[in-house]
Amino acid sequence: MNARPNKDFFASAVAADRSPARVVLTNGLILADPSVCNVEPHYATVIEGDALTAVNAQEIQPGPGDHVLDCSGCLIAPGLVNAHTHAAMSLLRGVADDVALDRWLHEYIFPAEARFAGEYFVYLGTKLSAVEMALSGTTAFADGYFHMEHAARAAEEVGLRIVAAQGILDVPAPDAAQPGAWRRRVDAFLADCPRSPLVKPALFCHSPYLCSPETLKEAYTLAAENGVRLFCHVAETAWEATEILKRFSATPATHLHSLGLLGERFTAVHAVHLSEDEIDLLARSQASVVHCPECNMKLASGAAPVAELLRRGALVGLGSDGAASNNNLDLFEEMRTASLLAKLVNSDPTALDARAALKMATLDGARAIGLGSECGSLAEGKSADLIVVDFNQPHLTPVYDPASHLVFSAKGSDVRDVFVRGRQVVANRRVTTVDVDALLAEVRLLSAEIDRELRAKRART
Ligand SMILES: [Zn+2]
Repeated sequence: MNARPNKDFFASAVAADRSPARVVLTNGLILADPSVCNVEPHYATVIEGDALTAVNAQEIQPGPGDHVLDCSGCLIAPGLVNAHTHAAMSLLRGVADDVALDRWLHEYIFPAEARFAGEYFVYLGTKLSAVEMALSGTTAFADGYFHMEHAARAAEEVGLRIVAAQGILDVPAPDAAQPGAWRRRVDAFLADCPRSPLVKPALFCHSPYLCSPETLKEAYTLAAENGVRLFCHVAETAWEATEILKRFSATPATHLHSLGLLGERFTAVHAVHLSEDEIDLLARSQASVVHCPECNMKLASGAAPVAELLRRGALVGLGSDGAASNNNLDLFEEMRTASLLAKLVNSDPTALDARAALKMATLDGARAIGLGSECGSLAEGKSADLIVVDFNQPHLTPVYDPASHLVFSAKGSDVRDVFVRGRQVVANRRVTTVDVDALLAEVRLLSAEIDRELRAKRART
C-alpha cells in the first residue's frame, strides 16, 4: 500500500514569482565570505533578477520602485546548505527513537518505507521538510531518497535549491520492487526530473553494504556519463567497517577507492569510522565528505574525525541527515553540535571553531554537493541565496562576535528573511511560496493513516 494522494494537492504547481525588479537590503551587519568570516557594518546589497549585483556597496541609494528591506539589528549571511538529508522522512519523524541503526533501519524504517513511501509520500514529506528548512535558513539541500523527481518538484514549489539524488540499492526499494531494478528507475528519474535552475539531478548509492561493487561502479559510470554527482553513506558504523572488511578485505573508503569512486563527483556521507589511511585518502582525493553530527550522536554511530579531516585538507560539508534520525532539520543546531562534539572528542576547546563550522554549513557545503559556483557566499554575479538573521533577541544581545552568535547562540527560528535565486521565499518568518496551513493539514491526514497501520502491525506482532 502506498499513501493515497490527494489529487488536487499532488497536482499543485510552482507559483509564479512576483519578485520586484530590484531588492535593496540596507543597514545591519553582513558576513559575505565564509572562507574568511569577516563581519562588517552593512551599507547596501542589491538583488536584481536571480543575482546579486552589489554586495555591501556604500554608494547605492534605493530608488523609487525598489523594494527596500531594512536589516537594522540583523545580520545578512549566505543561505545555509544542508549537504545531506532524506527530506521525505520528516513524515516518519518520531516513529522510532532510542534504538541502534541496524534495528532502526530493519525493524522500523525499511518496513514503513516499503509500505508507505510512494510518490505522494515523497512529494508531501519533501515539501514539509523544504518548508522547515526554508524557515530555518537553509536555501539549498542535497537529498537522497526514492521517487526523486517528486522530491525535486516539491523543493521547486517551495523555492529551495535541491540536489535530488535518486536512491540505488541492490535490495528491493519502494520505487524498484525487484532486486536489481534500480537501473530502470534511474533512467526514468533522469528522464523525468524537472528541468529547473533550482534542481540538479544526482544519484545516491545507499552504502557499500547494500550496493555491490558492480552496482557502485555502474552507478559511478552513469553519474559520469550524465554529468551528475554520486552520494553514498560511507563508514557510518563500526559494524559497517567490520562487515566491509569481512566481505572485501578492505575498509569502506579503501574499498570505494579500489572501485575508482573517490573522484571529484563523489560525496562520502558520514565518514565516521575511518582509519588513518582513509582520512588521508579522503583528504587527498577529489571526493567530498558530509558530516552529520546529530544523527551520528542520536544513533550512537560515533564521532567523525572532522577536525582531522579538515586539518589534512578534506572538503567537508554539514548535513542533518533525515528528520527521522535527528529529529529536526535546523542547520544552526547542526553547526553548534559539530563544533561542540569536535571539542569534546578531541579534548580541545579550540577544535572546529565557529568560523570552521560556518564555512562547512555554507561555502564548503555548497562545494561538497556541486553548487559552489552558484551559492555558499555573497559576491557580485553570484546567485542571490541569502538569509537575514534577526539579532534583536534576548539570546543574541549584546553582540561582541556575530560569527560566534550564529553558531553558538542563534536558532533557525531567528531567521527573518530568506532569498533563493533572488526570490523571497521567507518574509518576516513566513513562507511566501506555498500554503503552509494546507500542507500541514495534508500531512496530518497522511500521518493518521501511517499511525493506524503501524499500531495495527504492532498489535499483530
Ligand atoms: Zn543518510
